[in-house]
Amino acid sequence: MLPAHHRQQRRADPARRHAWNVTRTGCGCCAPPMLGGGGKNPLQTAPSAGSEALRLSEFQPRSMLHVPVTQVQTPAFPVIDVHTHLSWMSETRSGVSLGEAMTYFADPAELLPLMDRKGIRTMVNLTGGTGRGLEETIARFDAVAPGRFRTMTEPSFALFDQPDYARLQAEAIEHAHRVGAAGLKLLKTLGLYLREGIDQGELVGVDDARFDPMWETCAARRMPVFIHTSDPEAFFLPGDSTNERYEELARHPDWSFYGPEYPSHRDLLAARDRVIARHPGTTFVLMHVGNQAEDLATIAACMDRHPNVYVDISARISELGRQPRMARRFFERYQDRILFGTDAVPAPYGNDVPQQLLGDALYEIYYRFLETEDEYFDYAPAAVPPQGRWSIYGVGLPHDILRKVYHDNAARLLGMDP
Ligand SMILES: [Zn+2]
Repeated sequence: MLPAHHRQQRRADPARRHAWNVTRTGCGCCAPPMLGGGGKNPLQTAPSAGSEALRLSEFQPRSMLHVPVTQVQTPAFPVIDVHTHLSWMSETRSGVSLGEAMTYFADPAELLPLMDRKGIRTMVNLTGGTGRGLEETIARFDAVAPGRFRTMTEPSFALFDQPDYARLQAEAIEHAHRVGAAGLKLLKTLGLYLREGIDQGELVGVDDARFDPMWETCAARRMPVFIHTSDPEAFFLPGDSTNERYEELARHPDWSFYGPEYPSHRDLLAARDRVIARHPGTTFVLMHVGNQAEDLATIAACMDRHPNVYVDISARISELGRQPRMARRFFERYQDRILFGTDAVPAPYGNDVPQQLLGDALYEIYYRFLETEDEYFDYAPAAVPPQGRWSIYGVGLPHDILRKVYHDNAARLLGMDP
């Protein structure tokens, strides 16, 4: 509750508010009125009026709150990070990853010391590639440090313009299963990038029937599908002064899907939900809280309707942590279907996405968010909050829920030893 005089200020009519501003000094709380009528207070030390033109990118305020700061260097239970990117398909055309050649972001030798320091039992590398690329990724990670790395395969969109794509894709999943892929990962390609001619023509719908054999093969082989559909709601709105992710969109203009050439956020998620309904035997893990972390009631309804749905929390503690009471209830209700993930990307590839930059700092923020009731702290290791100018609050989960979210849910889904 604000002090009475602040509340009054809010209600004041514009003319009165103007008078209020010019007759007060300092912060206005308890300063004496300037009865002399305007003029500069000789004691004034605040920035002059010209400084209001400070550039937003230069505004890096430090919180003056004196509140407990809990450092959580290691998690309460071993962690399975189900969402990392340790490799990437080398060829990309208009947002669609193609081919079998791979680019590797890190080696197990670089990653294992961090994992040991931060209590990470296993990293799941979602973008493991296809075909020979996938085999190479598994040889470089899973085979070098068994149990510490699991690799997922991706769709073979390079085959999409072939008439028997549906069958070829199902066969590629069978191959991936044979060589040890833990599941199938889809980037936001479906619905936003993949077109009839791969990189040209009409966009292909998320629920296109040509993917049905792919979903069904995943069900038959007990490979969970980790799917990213749509993006934050704000990315579908004009990138203007009312957009709460204005700075992020300004830094990454290609992340905006505003305009008639793209489906709406709502339509993309509706198509995703039709796929989920049509393939009840397939387990779908919806990345980034289903891109509905801003709307927990709606993703909750999706999880209630579809028992084959899980979510990960990767890159969304920014959203969950600004609604800590609602988020905590979400964790309590869906404690068996929420997975720990960070979307971590090693440097230098992760440098321009601080909320995903692999390192000690990133994990400590996630652990603090999940384990403490600390108030108002940064959700990313960055001077300016990269996904919107706000801070977050810990949800302070009890140990029985932490154990499931950190580890047990993922271990069960991936067929790992408990
Ligand atoms: Zn990701």
